[in-house]
Amino acid sequence: MKTIVIATKNAGKAREYREMLAPLGITVKTLADFPPIKIDENGQTFEENATIKAKTAAAALNLPVMADDSGLVVDALNGAPGVHSARYAGDHDDQANNAKLLAELATVPDEQRTAHFHTTIVAIKPDGSKLVANGRVDGHILHELTGKNGFGYDPLFYVDELQCAMAELTAAQKNRVSHRGRALREFMQKFNDWWA
Ligand code: IMP
Repeated sequence: MKTIVIATKNAGKAREYREMLAPLGITVKTLADFPPIKIDENGQTFEENATIKAKTAAAALNLPVMADDSGLVVDALNGAPGVHSARYAGDHDDQANNAKLLAELATVPDEQRTAHFHTTIVAIKPDGSKLVANGRVDGHILHELTGKNGFGYDPLFYVDELQCAMAELTAAQKNRVSHRGRALREFMQKFNDWWA
């Protein structure tokens, strides 16, 4: 086996994964390289959603596939927006999603504004063998948008260990602490055993 498919059409994500896997001599393709596959992403957890994506594509393409699912988990909102993070207020509308988050937390005091970002990466071979890696970063939800970098909920997420907003970090700084960076490093640690 020399090829793995990333179950995303997001060019930024595909580039990040390709940079990690290409040095291992592996050809990295994405779903954009194949005819469309229908994937119903209706899981209740990040791992369920990543598994649905990877499993559906691996069966359709008869190739190993990796997929991820991420989101923001806010304790005072019983885990919302969670797996619904992309569509909390509007479909991939960061401004609307952030406005809704601020409104939902309007009366919640600082010490109860704890939250974390989570990523699960799942890789599945056509024979069903599965690799799972997770990453998280802990923080608090701010009262106003802070910083200009990143995307999504980054301007409202205060990173406890760095004492600044996620959107104040450069891409390299974010990658060192982020849920996605951590999941990807765990994934690469486990990768060779799964791939062999
Ligand atoms: P995805 O599963 O990686 O596509 O993430 C789903 C949604 O979670 C995104 O559309 C964002 O709203 C939110 N999200 C995931 N990762 C991040 C991040 O690193 N910063 C801010 N928001 C994120």
